[in-house]
Amino acid sequence: MKCKNGCRFGIMGGSFDPIHYGHLVLAEQIRTQFYLDMVYFVPVGAPSHKKDRKLADKLSRYEMVVMATMTNPYFQVSRIEIDNMDVSYTIDTVKEFRNNIGQDDTLYFITGADAIIDIETWKSCEELLSLCKFIGATRPTVNDTHLVNKVNDIVQKYDADIQLTTVPALAISSTDIRNRVKNDMSIRYLLPESVESYIHKKGLYRHR
Ligand code: ATP
Ligand code: MG
Repeated sequence: MKCKNGCRFGIMGGSFDPIHYGHLVLAEQIRTQFYLDMVYFVPVGAPSHKKDRKLADKLSRYEMVVMATMTNPYFQVSRIEIDNMDVSYTIDTVKEFRNNIGQDDTLYFITGADAIIDIETWKSCEELLSLCKFIGATRPTVNDTHLVNKVNDIVQKYDADIQLTTVPALAISSTDIRNRVKNDMSIRYLLPESVESYIHKKGLYRHR
Protein backbone atom coordinates (compact mmCIF):
# COMPACT_ATOMS: atom_id res chain seq x y z
CA MET A 1 0.00 0.00 0.00
CA LYS A 2 1.29 3.48 -0.92
CA CYS A 3 0.28 6.60 0.97
CA LYS A 4 1.45 10.18 0.77
CA ASN A 5 3.92 10.81 3.64
CA GLY A 6 3.77 7.17 4.74
CA CYS A 7 0.85 5.00 5.69
CA ARG A 8 -0.73 4.84 9.12
CA PHE A 9 -1.69 1.32 10.08
CA GLY A 10 -3.69 0.22 13.12
CA ILE A 11 -3.31 -3.19 14.71
CA MET A 12 -6.07 -4.44 16.92
CA GLY A 13 -5.34 -7.65 18.74
CA GLY A 14 -7.85 -9.66 20.71
CA SER A 15 -9.24 -13.08 21.33
CA PHE A 16 -12.44 -12.05 19.54
CA ASP A 17 -14.29 -14.88 21.21
CA PRO A 18 -16.59 -13.69 19.68
CA ILE A 19 -16.08 -10.33 17.95
CA HIS A 20 -18.82 -7.83 18.82
CA TYR A 21 -19.89 -4.23 18.21
CA GLY A 22 -17.62 -2.96 21.01
CA HIS A 23 -14.60 -4.07 18.98
CA LEU A 24 -15.98 -2.73 15.72
CA VAL A 25 -16.96 0.66 17.14
CA LEU A 26 -13.57 1.00 18.82
CA ALA A 27 -11.68 0.22 15.61
CA GLU A 28 -13.81 2.48 13.44
CA GLN A 29 -13.73 5.43 15.83
CA ILE A 30 -9.98 5.22 16.17
CA ARG A 31 -9.50 4.76 12.44
CA THR A 32 -11.26 8.04 11.76
CA GLN A 33 -9.88 9.96 14.78
CA PHE A 34 -6.30 9.04 13.88
CA TYR A 35 -6.67 9.04 10.09
CA LEU A 36 -5.56 5.43 9.78
CA ASP A 37 -5.27 4.03 6.26
CA MET A 38 -6.07 0.49 7.38
CA VAL A 39 -6.88 -1.37 10.58
CA TYR A 40 -5.70 -4.95 10.88
CA PHE A 41 -7.62 -7.20 13.24
CA VAL A 42 -5.33 -9.86 14.66
CA PRO A 43 -7.13 -12.73 16.39
CA VAL A 44 -4.85 -14.52 18.84
CA GLY A 45 -3.96 -18.14 18.24
CA ALA A 46 -2.66 -19.49 21.51
CA PRO A 47 -2.82 -16.52 23.89
CA SER A 48 -0.20 -15.98 26.56
CA HIS A 49 -2.82 -14.95 29.10
CA LYS A 50 -6.44 -16.12 29.48
CA LYS A 51 -5.03 -19.58 30.12
CA ASP A 52 -7.83 -20.10 32.62
CA ARG A 53 -10.37 -20.58 29.88
CA LYS A 54 -10.40 -22.55 26.68
CA LEU A 55 -11.11 -20.31 23.71
CA ALA A 56 -13.34 -21.32 20.83
CA ASP A 57 -11.25 -22.88 18.07
CA LYS A 58 -9.12 -20.36 16.22
CA LEU A 59 -10.62 -20.95 12.80
CA SER A 60 -14.10 -20.12 14.10
CA ARG A 61 -12.86 -16.98 15.82
CA TYR A 62 -11.00 -15.97 12.66
CA GLU A 63 -14.04 -16.58 10.45
CA MET A 64 -16.26 -14.53 12.72
CA VAL A 65 -13.81 -11.61 12.50
CA VAL A 66 -13.73 -11.92 8.70
CA MET A 67 -17.53 -11.87 8.50
CA ALA A 68 -17.85 -8.93 10.87
CA THR A 69 -15.29 -6.77 9.08
CA MET A 70 -16.14 -7.65 5.49
CA THR A 71 -18.22 -4.57 4.70
CA ASN A 72 -15.58 -2.08 5.86
CA PRO A 73 -12.93 -1.49 3.16
CA TYR A 74 -10.56 -0.11 5.82
CA PHE A 75 -10.63 -3.29 7.91
CA GLN A 76 -8.51 -6.34 7.20
CA VAL A 77 -7.93 -9.53 9.15
CA SER A 78 -4.48 -10.95 9.72
CA ARG A 79 -3.83 -14.68 10.15
CA ILE A 80 -0.39 -14.04 11.58
CA GLU A 81 -1.17 -15.21 15.11
CA ILE A 82 -3.62 -17.98 14.31
CA ASP A 83 -1.16 -19.54 11.86
CA ASN A 84 1.47 -19.54 14.59
CA MET A 85 1.45 -22.81 16.52
CA ASP A 86 3.18 -21.28 19.51
CA VAL A 87 2.01 -18.78 22.06
CA SER A 88 1.57 -15.36 20.48
CA TYR A 89 3.27 -12.30 21.92
CA THR A 90 2.44 -8.80 20.78
CA ILE A 91 6.14 -8.02 20.34
CA ASP A 92 6.51 -10.76 17.71
CA THR A 93 3.40 -9.68 15.85
CA VAL A 94 4.45 -6.05 15.83
CA LYS A 95 7.93 -6.97 14.58
CA GLU A 96 6.41 -9.02 11.77
CA PHE A 97 4.22 -6.09 10.74
CA ARG A 98 7.23 -3.78 10.92
CA ASN A 99 9.14 -6.07 8.55
CA ASN A 100 6.35 -5.90 6.02
CA ILE A 101 5.76 -2.17 5.92
CA GLY A 102 7.76 0.80 4.64
CA GLN A 103 10.24 2.93 6.56
CA ASP A 104 7.89 5.91 6.49
CA ASP A 105 4.86 3.97 7.65
CA THR A 106 3.59 4.21 11.23
CA LEU A 107 2.09 1.45 13.34
CA TYR A 108 -0.55 2.12 15.97
CA PHE A 109 -1.50 -0.59 18.39
CA ILE A 110 -5.14 -0.14 19.41
CA THR A 111 -6.31 -1.43 22.74
CA GLY A 112 -8.69 -0.81 25.61
CA ALA A 113 -7.05 1.56 28.07
CA ASP A 114 -7.15 -0.99 30.87
CA ALA A 115 -4.66 -3.10 28.95
CA ILE A 116 -2.23 -0.18 28.75
CA ILE A 117 -1.96 -0.10 32.52
CA ASP A 118 -0.37 -3.57 32.53
CA ILE A 119 1.87 -2.98 29.54
CA GLU A 120 4.99 -3.31 31.66
CA THR A 121 4.10 -6.97 32.17
CA TRP A 122 4.04 -7.61 28.40
CA LYS A 123 6.97 -9.43 26.85
CA SER A 124 9.80 -7.07 25.78
CA CYS A 125 7.73 -4.06 26.75
CA GLU A 126 10.51 -1.55 26.20
CA GLU A 127 11.25 -2.75 22.68
CA LEU A 128 7.55 -2.95 21.93
CA LEU A 129 7.02 0.66 22.98
CA SER A 130 9.83 1.69 20.63
CA LEU A 131 8.38 -0.15 17.63
CA CYS A 132 4.86 1.22 17.60
CA LYS A 133 2.63 3.88 19.01
CA PHE A 134 -0.24 2.98 21.28
CA ILE A 135 -3.79 4.18 21.36
CA GLY A 136 -5.72 3.37 24.51
CA ALA A 137 -9.46 3.85 24.47
CA THR A 138 -11.60 4.69 27.46
CA ARG A 139 -15.26 5.34 27.80
CA PRO A 140 -16.33 9.01 27.75
CA THR A 141 -17.72 8.86 31.29
CA VAL A 142 -14.55 7.51 32.82
CA ASN A 143 -12.46 10.18 34.45
CA ASP A 144 -9.68 7.96 35.53
CA THR A 145 -6.85 9.96 37.03
CA HIS A 146 -5.12 6.74 38.01
CA LEU A 147 -5.05 5.68 34.36
CA VAL A 148 -3.82 9.05 33.14
CA ASN A 149 -1.08 9.15 35.79
CA LYS A 150 0.03 5.63 34.99
CA VAL A 151 0.18 6.34 31.28
CA ASN A 152 2.17 9.53 31.90
CA ASP A 153 4.65 7.53 33.99
CA ILE A 154 5.13 4.96 31.22
CA VAL A 155 5.49 7.65 28.57
CA GLN A 156 8.23 9.34 30.63
CA LYS A 157 10.01 6.17 31.62
CA TYR A 158 10.24 4.65 28.14
CA ASP A 159 9.93 7.75 25.98
CA ALA A 160 6.84 6.04 24.59
CA ASP A 161 4.06 7.39 22.42
CA ILE A 162 0.75 6.52 24.05
CA GLN A 163 -2.41 8.44 23.37
CA LEU A 164 -5.63 8.05 25.26
CA THR A 165 -8.88 8.70 23.55
CA THR A 166 -12.55 8.12 24.23
CA VAL A 167 -15.00 6.04 22.26
CA PRO A 168 -18.77 5.83 22.82
CA ALA A 169 -19.53 3.67 25.83
CA LEU A 170 -20.58 0.20 24.89
CA ALA A 171 -21.07 -2.21 27.73
CA ILE A 172 -20.57 -5.16 25.43
CA SER A 173 -18.03 -7.88 26.16
CA SER A 174 -17.33 -11.31 24.73
CA THR A 175 -17.66 -12.76 28.22
CA ASP A 176 -21.19 -11.44 28.51
CA ILE A 177 -22.10 -12.72 25.04
CA ARG A 178 -20.78 -16.21 25.83
CA ASN A 179 -22.77 -16.25 29.08
CA ARG A 180 -25.89 -15.18 27.27
CA VAL A 181 -25.56 -17.98 24.73
CA LYS A 182 -25.02 -20.49 27.50
CA ASN A 183 -28.09 -19.25 29.33
CA ASP A 184 -30.28 -19.14 26.22
CA MET A 185 -30.54 -15.36 26.28
CA SER A 186 -30.64 -13.17 23.19
CA ILE A 187 -27.41 -11.80 21.74
CA ARG A 188 -29.16 -10.00 18.91
CA TYR A 189 -27.86 -6.46 18.23
CA LEU A 190 -24.75 -7.01 20.34
CA LEU A 191 -22.84 -8.27 17.31
CA PRO A 192 -23.36 -8.49 13.55
CA GLU A 193 -26.17 -10.77 12.42
CA SER A 194 -23.81 -12.91 10.38
CA VAL A 195 -21.74 -13.64 13.50
CA GLU A 196 -24.85 -14.37 15.55
CA SER A 197 -26.04 -16.91 12.94
CA TYR A 198 -22.59 -18.49 12.81
CA ILE A 199 -22.53 -18.94 16.60
CA HIS A 200 -25.95 -20.59 16.62
CA LYS A 201 -25.25 -22.76 13.57
CA LYS A 202 -21.98 -24.05 14.97
CA GLY A 203 -23.33 -24.36 18.48
CA LEU A 204 -20.52 -22.25 19.93
CA TYR A 205 -20.52 -21.29 23.64
CA ARG A 206 -23.51 -23.45 24.50
CA HIS A 207 -21.65 -25.58 26.99
CA ARG A 208 -19.18 -23.10 28.42
P1 ATP B 1 -13.47 -11.04 27.05
O1 ATP B 1 -14.76 -10.64 27.68
O2 ATP B 1 -13.38 -12.48 26.67
O3 ATP B 1 -12.25 -10.53 27.78
P2 ATP B 1 -13.49 -8.75 25.27
O4 ATP B 1 -14.89 -8.37 24.93
O5 ATP B 1 -12.80 -7.92 26.30
O6 ATP B 1 -13.45 -10.29 25.62
P3 ATP B 1 -11.10 -9.02 23.71
O7 ATP B 1 -10.98 -9.87 22.50
O8 ATP B 1 -10.47 -9.44 24.98
O9 ATP B 1 -12.68 -8.76 23.94
O10 ATP B 1 -10.69 -7.52 23.40
C1 ATP B 1 -9.91 -7.07 22.34
C2 ATP B 1 -9.74 -5.56 22.48
O11 ATP B 1 -10.99 -4.87 22.39
C3 ATP B 1 -9.16 -5.15 23.83
O12 ATP B 1 -8.22 -4.12 23.61
C4 ATP B 1 -10.36 -4.62 24.60
O13 ATP B 1 -9.99 -3.65 25.56
C5 ATP B 1 -11.20 -4.02 23.50
N1 ATP B 1 -12.66 -4.04 23.81
C6 ATP B 1 -13.39 -5.10 24.15
N2 ATP B 1 -14.69 -4.78 24.35
C7 ATP B 1 -14.79 -3.44 24.12
C8 ATP B 1 -15.89 -2.49 24.17
N3 ATP B 1 -17.11 -2.85 24.50
N4 ATP B 1 -15.61 -1.20 23.85
C9 ATP B 1 -14.35 -0.84 23.53
N5 ATP B 1 -13.28 -1.68 23.48
C10 ATP B 1 -13.49 -2.97 23.77
MG1 MG C 1 -11.12 -8.58 27.47
